[in-house]
Amino acid sequence: MRIGLIAHDNKKPSLVEFVARYQQQFRQHELYATGHTGQQISDRTGLSVHCLLSGPLGGDQQMGSRIAEGAIDMLFFFRDPLFAHPHEPDVTALLRLSDVQSIPVATNPATAEALVRLL
Ligand code: PGA
Repeated sequence: MRIGLIAHDNKKPSLVEFVARYQQQFRQHELYATGHTGQQISDRTGLSVHCLLSGPLGGDQQMGSRIAEGAIDMLFFFRDPLFAHPHEPDVTALLRLSDVQSIPVATNPATAEALVRLL
C-alpha cells in the first residue's frame, strides 16, 4: 500500500510514536509524508519515507494531488483541532479528495489504532 502521513506540529510526537510502535507493519509499505513529518518519522524509525514539501508550503496540496490520482491508499493525518492553521484550505481540500477517492483516513490516534490493523 501507499500510505500518506501528516501531522500538525502539536500532533507530531503522537504520530511519530505511533509509527515507531507499528514500524514492522509500516516497513512493508510505501510511505509518503509532508516534509517535517516525514523527516521526524525517518529520524526516529529509520524507515524510508518519500518526503513532500512542508505542509504549509504546499505539501498538503502535493499529497492531495497524489490522492486525486489514486496514488495514495490510506492516510494518517493527525490534525490539531485546537489551533487555526494558515493552510486550512489545503487541509480541507486534502480531506475532500480523500472522500472523493474513498480512501481510509485516520485523523486521530483512536482511528489510527483501528486502521493500522488493516496493514
Ligand atoms: P509538515 O506539514 O509535516 O511539513 O510540518 C504538516 C502540516 O502542517 O500540514
